[in-house]
Amino acid sequence: MSKFSIAIHGGAGTLVRGLMTPKLEREYTNALELALDAGAAILEQGGSSLDAVETAVKTLEDSPLFNAGKGAVFTADGTHEMDAAIMEGNELKAGAVSLITGIKNPVSLARDVMERSNHVFLAGEGAMRFAASLGYELESEAYFYDEVRYRQWQGIKDSDNFQLDHSVKKDGKFGTVGAVASDMHGNLAAATSTGGMTNKRWGRIGDSPIIGSGNYANNKTCAVSCTGSGEYFIRGVVAYDVSCLMEFKGYTLQQAASEVIQKRILELGGDGGLIAVDVNGNIAMPFNTEGMYRASLNSDGIRELGIYKD
Ligand code: ASP
Repeated sequence: MSKFSIAIHGGAGTLVRGLMTPKLEREYTNALELALDAGAAILEQGGSSLDAVETAVKTLEDSPLFNAGKGAVFTADGTHEMDAAIMEGNELKAGAVSLITGIKNPVSLARDVMERSNHVFLAGEGAMRFAASLGYELESEAYFYDEVRYRQWQGIKDSDNFQLDHSVKKDGKFGTVGAVASDMHGNLAAATSTGGMTNKRWGRIGDSPIIGSGNYANNKTCAVSCTGSGEYFIRGVVAYDVSCLMEFKGYTLQQAASEVIQKRILELGGDGGLIAVDVNGNIAMPFNTEGMYRASLNSDGIRELGIYKD
């Protein structure tokens, strides 16, 4: 098998053509291309889907444009609390972290949880102690400071509201990042990373680090990374639901992904989207919002990049 495919996302939401300046649109496009190419370069050389998704997500985490890593949103306390997960589809190994601060690339810490601990999910202070034990250095608050994010937080910080990232209207847009890939060896992997919601409180955790909700990979079916209203995606067990429809109902990747995003999650009241690949190199990127930052590439050289619905 010499086929491979990769897809990435940078969040979904009220992305309407004309609301963004051409310059900002170019910046987003360039950032997506950079992450896609970084991941694809690994797959082209016969590398693993796990390395590809980690690399693609790290590239997105290093950009201030997305709500993950450097661009993570502010919590109600004016801090940054990040969540990330990674999973491989061969042995169903997974790692996740939540409520971590100061870590430049949360996705790499999630991978270390998977490969260098006996656990799957570490949170808060304990996750930070685990990072310290591996020699992770912490970035200062200044590294994560972003003027736009700060203003988003200032706008709602004295209220009980919390807000999904980049909204042009409240609750309009999500900036989580993710990557899914299928490599030449027939292995699937998925990774997701997020700063969660602006002004979030009480140790709120979304779907992104929850295996089966925001992130899932299984060689028998698919690899999935989600973005959207996390509370609904947790209740809908969205990523695993896509896999289940394929495994138990014989749906194709496209059918399963669109059934979940265009029907099931909408019926629950949630909005957002997902990216998914299967072992045959098929790619699905459905969303039920006005837009989703997304890009994909396969070994036939077919490249797609989009922000808006059309
Ligand atoms: N799903 C993420 C969360 O609820 C938000 C996002 O997709 O941007 O934390």
